[in-house]
Parts: sequence; structure tokens; C-alpha cells
Amino acid sequence: MPELPEVETVRISLNYRIVGQKITAVRIGDFAGVLGGDESSAFAARVVGREIVGTRRRGKYIMIDLDDDSLLLIHLRMTGNLVLVSRFDPKLRFEHLSLELENDTDLRFSDQRKFGRVIHYLPGNADVLDGKVGPEPLSDGFTVDVLAKSLARRSAPIKSALLNQKIVAGIGNIYADEALFRARIHPLSPANRLKFEEVRQLHRAIRQVLREGLGNRGTSVSHFRDGNGDEGNNQSNLRVYGKGRSESACPRCGRPLTFLVIGGRSSHFCPNCQRLAKA
Ligand SMILES: [Zn+2]
Repeated sequence: MPELPEVETVRISLNYRIVGQKITAVRIGDFAGVLGGDESSAFAARVVGREIVGTRRRGKYIMIDLDDDSLLLIHLRMTGNLVLVSRFDPKLRFEHLSLELENDTDLRFSDQRKFGRVIHYLPGNADVLDGKVGPEPLSDGFTVDVLAKSLARRSAPIKSALLNQKIVAGIGNIYADEALFRARIHPLSPANRLKFEEVRQLHRAIRQVLREGLGNRGTSVSHFRDGNGDEGNNQSNLRVYGKGRSESACPRCGRPLTFLVIGGRSSHFCPNCQRLAKA
């Protein structure tokens, strides 16, 4: 599933090519559910003729701002792809929505699993995600104290806490496992049992793995492609994610990595470097 670095990479790769473009037509495929319950013709009537004036990201969401102060909120979820192609390119596999732009390009949304959504919000909803999504981990507002305070209220395993979008926005399975490895924290450690020093290490590790992921233009372990259809490069930078099942050697101590299923998600870690404190 695309996480903060992947979603931001998609946004950056599209931004300079779609801002300033007018939407001239909308094509909706067989799965109208992509609009989140909106009616296809009503969606088209509201969106056609609008100019794209900006793009933003919040957590794992992309927001495309339109010139009437309305916005398109896009969530890629598991397998969604948002890509800009030539008008004359053949239909994509699993293509559900295409926004035709005036320069003969199409902004197309495809999604094999059909969990992704493109939702049009009426004017006045610019901050629709505030209150639903927690602090941005790369923002100045996300301090060690903010994280510590938030974790102090949760007894859930730290792995599950990191996936909670209200605690910190944009982290999923990949970057959670990578951050816990760097901070040497066992994924089952109760969030409210971490020492302040551990939270400080975790805070630093979260920012580090996300910045590296962004610098490498995202992790392509399964479906991820940017807005040009290109893969990211961060998969070679992963230390533990996906490596527990094969018991690959820990890059720090050389002992075999392992994995546990926590909250329904597999968590890869080093049982030697990431010890569970005794209760
Ligand atoms: Zn190790």
C-alpha cells in the first residue's frame, strides 16, 4: 500500500504537469463506486470546466484543488494508481476514471482491488481531513513531545500505534517496520511503556525512513508507480520489511530476521536487536 513517500512522489510527479490545466471531460469506467457514492453525471457536471489550481498531500491522501475552491480527494489505498498519460494511450488495465485535460493528456485512476477513491468535495471543504488525520511526521509540529503524549495514552503494540493515522499521518506497514528496526524497538512493545529516550529514537527513525523513502521516490514492492508510471527506488534501501519470512540476515547483527502478525499485519524485525522488555 502506498505510504507517505509514495503518495508524495505521485503528487510531485504530477503537480507541475497538471496545475493550470482545465478539465475538459470526464470518463467513468464500469466501477462508478470509485466516486465514493457520487453520481457519475453529477460528478462530471461539477468537475468539467474547472481548472486545477494546486495539489496537496495530507497523510496518504492527495488533494487536487480546483478553481471554484472545490477539491478532489484521492486515496490510492491498496492498488490505486494515478497517472498522467496521452489522450491517445489505450485504456489502462483496471481504469475506473479519466479526467481529460486541455493539453491532450488524461489524468487516469486505475485500481485492481477497487478500494481506492476519487471524491469531489464542494467548495469550503479545503480542510476536510483535519480532525480525521493526525500530525504530518515531517512537519515542524510533529515533535518528540507530541509523539510521546500521543503514545502515552495507548496500550496497543507500538506497531499498531504507528499504523493509526490519528497518531501520525502517512505511515503504513513498510515504514513502520523500518522505523522500529532503526529505533531498536520490538513491534509488540506497548506504546505507553516506551521510555522517553525510546520515543526520541523512534521519532528520529520515523523521519529518517520517510525522508529516505521520499529521496528514493518511493518503495515499489508491489503496485506502486509514480504519476509518470515509473517505479521508485527505495526497495533496495529496506533493512527488514518483507525479509522476516525468509529469515534474511539482520543488516546490523547478522542474526536471522523474523516476523509476527500483529493486528492482522505481518511485522518484520530482528529478535536480537529489537528486544521486548519484560513486563
Ligand atoms: Zn539484529
